[in-house]
Amino acid sequence: MSDMTSDTDSDNSELKLFDDSTVQAEPFQIEVIRSKKRRRTVSAQMHGDVLRVSIPSWMSKSEEATNVAEMVRRFKRKIATQEVDLTDRARILAKRYSLRIPDSIEWAENLTSVWGLCTPSTKTIRMSTRLIGFPSWVLDYVIVHELAHLHVSGHGPDFWEITRRYDKTERAIGYLIAKSGDTDDNTDKTDTDTAHETELS
Ligand SMILES: [Zn+2]
Repeated sequence: MSDMTSDTDSDNSELKLFDDSTVQAEPFQIEVIRSKKRRRTVSAQMHGDVLRVSIPSWMSKSEEATNVAEMVRRFKRKIATQEVDLTDRARILAKRYSLRIPDSIEWAENLTSVWGLCTPSTKTIRMSTRLIGFPSWVLDYVIVHELAHLHVSGHGPDFWEITRRYDKTERAIGYLIAKSGDTDDNTDKTDTDTAHETELS
């Protein structure tokens, strides 16, 4: 069972099937549960192929639609992230470009201002779920960029020498700049002692 909850509430729920056929064209069915006890939070859980969305009973139909759409978007993204094996991808790229293999590489929902984040001290990498849907060669660039930080902490010439072992680096940087709506030609600006970011800008 998969769970997404923004807060915990006890439930005194009445079950209602969501009967909008266009919504049911989603990869899973949707049930909306209106709860009298639920004051403000919306939560969703996957039960088999049914997404069960719990909302406060006072919500209007349009608020219901907005919240259901948001939960559907989140779960679709969750499904999409499960289709990309980051660990496997990082291993392949590390081997190809003679780079270290991270201890872990995972998707992160809360990386909103950066594309990727490497913490060299723990050899961990986090990848923004905003990359979902981008071409695989762009995703590969961000992985290579973060892998390179396992070797070099800053963004100096030695760092770029490693990163440019990946031949689509320049192209991918251009793609990410276009996506972030920034004219800065450097994808990265910030470095601290503990973490390295591929900035969203
Ligand atoms: Zn960086």
